[in-house]
Amino acid sequence: MSQLEAVDTLVIGSGPGGYTAALRSAQLGMKTAVVERGQIGGVCTHVGCIPSKALIAEAQRYNLHRKWNKAVDSAPFENAQAFKQAVVNKQAGGVDYLLKTAGVTVLKGEASLVDEHKAAIKQPGTEQMISFKTVILAMGSRPIELQALPFSGRILSSTEALSLFQIPTSLVIIGGGYIGVELGQMYAKFGTKVTILEGGEQVLSGFEVDLAAPVIRQLNADGITIITGATAIKAEQDADMLTLHYLKNQEQFLTTAEYALVIVGRTPNTDGSLGLERTGLQVTSRGLIETDEQCRTAIPHIFAIGDITKGPALAHKASYEAKVAAEAIAGKPSIVDYKAIPLVVFSEPELASIGLSETEAKEKGISVIIGKSSFTINGRALALKASEGFVKIIADQASGIVMGAQIVGVEASTLISELALAIEMGATVEDLAMTIHPHPTLGEVIMEAAENAVRKIMMNR
Ligand code: FAD
Repeated sequence: MSQLEAVDTLVIGSGPGGYTAALRSAQLGMKTAVVERGQIGGVCTHVGCIPSKALIAEAQRYNLHRKWNKAVDSAPFENAQAFKQAVVNKQAGGVDYLLKTAGVTVLKGEASLVDEHKAAIKQPGTEQMISFKTVILAMGSRPIELQALPFSGRILSSTEALSLFQIPTSLVIIGGGYIGVELGQMYAKFGTKVTILEGGEQVLSGFEVDLAAPVIRQLNADGITIITGATAIKAEQDADMLTLHYLKNQEQFLTTAEYALVIVGRTPNTDGSLGLERTGLQVTSRGLIETDEQCRTAIPHIFAIGDITKGPALAHKASYEAKVAAEAIAGKPSIVDYKAIPLVVFSEPELASIGLSETEAKEKGISVIIGKSSFTINGRALALKASEGFVKIIADQASGIVMGAQIVGVEASTLISELALAIEMGATVEDLAMTIHPHPTLGEVIMEAAENAVRKIMMNR
């Protein structure tokens, strides 16, 4: 065992939480090391956000060419996989470069906490010790495995589903959350016969019915079969096929497919050989680590960020918390404020949501005004042949302050940032309505939804 030099900040895990924390810590003048047992960049870069969005973009391009009778690639899926890998490599290289130039020490291996101020970094055949003043835990999460459908053979997690080398003829997806819908639609656009099995009443259950409806219509148009209120109970596999048994309305049914893809959520990496117990830190029943508004755990020099903490498991939530944690360690008064975390589904059409929804406002008894406008006659949307969808803004009735927004439609993922800024800045619908938006752009629909809210507020006065 060799002794490494001591650092001010040790970061465990190099996903969007970990690498951002390491960068910010080094920029603030602290001697920083980040340790990674897998690949630098974590889940997001290698088996999450980036590869999925690269494949989705390729599937959409392929589908458009096919629809418009343009010459299509003879090996579209194989080439999409190669493109995806090139994107991932470039992004991972970028993270590596940023860490190096910021002076962060990158350690390869599995970190195991020895006590409150020491960790062992283990690799096959070697073990190094490192001591730290402060540690930021950013170990991320892994796919939840169902006891009845353990990952093996034809039963895949999202990780394997992003790395198939041949387009499957058929796929049954268990779980109609955002990842299931994104990957299902991607495969359907490449020609796979996709079935989505969802336990709840609607796929994308986190979204209101009117928002999910245009996406569900498109999923149906893409040939995807959606079975709601269904619970997968077991599967049998042979050399070519998988038979999945499921329950619906207390009756048993079966469906066959080449692969089953189980996407029913993620579980935090706070167990195993990490040794949290040696620091005295407790986890919740779901394995999460509790933190305060500076991402500090019950032990003042131990911080936790990203998927191992409460809240949505999203890359931008992890990197946001990373900045707060590093700044708190440097003695700055930074604190988290979760009122404006965007949630995006990269489906076709895209879905995006931020802050309070209309349903939540009703449940909480908050008096709100809903401003709405659609893409139907927006010039830019028409030119893009993508005029389905709308923007909905939720504003406080008395003050007009923007409290939430949802968008379904083309480029919702990009458009939602304007509303994130509005909420962050405490802007009113009048501010949005009186902001000059360039013409012809999709952003004009946000301005029109805000104008609609302003008119309603005026009428109520
Ligand atoms: P992670 O990215 O999980 O990184 C944690 C790292 O810690 C891992 O690399 C792991 O190897 C390492 N590690 C764990 N334990 C140890 C240890 N003991 N020692 C050393 N290293 C360790 N989010 C979005 O915001 N937008 C999206 O579009 C999106 N798409 C997704 C698509 C898919 C298919 C999946 C699976 C996820 C997607 N996510 C998306 C979620 C996003 O990937 C995660 O929320 C994000 O990666 C969490 O970041 P993190 O830093 O907490 O941890």
